[in-house]
Amino acid sequence: MTVVAIDGPAGVGKSTVARRVAARLGVPYLDTGSMYRAVAWKALQADLDPGDGSAMARLIAGLRFELRSRNDEAEVVVDGTVPGARLRTPRVDVATSRVAVHPAVRSWLVAKQREFAAREGAVVEGRDIGTVVFPDTPHKFYLEAPLEIRAGRRLRQLAGRERGADRSRLLREMRDRDERDIRRSASPLRRDETYEVIDTSTGDAEQVADRILRAVRAVTAVP
Ligand code: C5P
Repeated sequence: MTVVAIDGPAGVGKSTVARRVAARLGVPYLDTGSMYRAVAWKALQADLDPGDGSAMARLIAGLRFELRSRNDEAEVVVDGTVPGARLRTPRVDVATSRVAVHPAVRSWLVAKQREFAAREGAVVEGRDIGTVVFPDTPHKFYLEAPLEIRAGRRLRQLAGRERGADRSRLLREMRDRDERDIRRSASPLRRDETYEVIDTSTGDAEQVADRILRAVRAVTAVP
């Protein structure tokens, strides 16, 4: 069973690359960020403070949370609803990195991530996939690019949906989010020598996916 871990900061291009790698390997794609986002979205809906660990523990205890396979991807279904694009707003971005600091939320979601990937393998994207969720996989990739480039990408994604997306606010929020992800004590974003580090500021997603596939195939016999 093949598990490919792809970690890195916000806006570095993980999703596009991970989707391509998954399709080429014929395994499902799991975006773990959408799981943390779904919890944050529910917290905002219930008017709860995402920074309040006890409130978040109570919230998840009452959630019906499911990862459904759809078009070779794991789709998040929470309390019977597919939140989809509602998870991709700047407000949810900020709330998510605050929700993600709580160990109770993390261990609850990590168990679901392991269970999903145990079925038929997966390409799993997030912040702690190679360090905490699947530390034993030989396939670990850390994508990185300068903040300016990552914010520019995110701005282009938002342009179609959010009117008046503001560049300096987005830069500030992305920097704060990265800081919180790197500095938190529970499963911070980090890389070690077991990762192959890939700079995504030059080269397109296809080239990055090719490089990952070559590295995976060099270690494991996969299609
Ligand atoms: O990848 P994405 O930008 O959707 O992740 C949203 C947030 O979810 C991150 O900023 C981070 O706080 C949290 N996250 C996490 N661990 C993961 C995936 C996402 O803490 N494995």
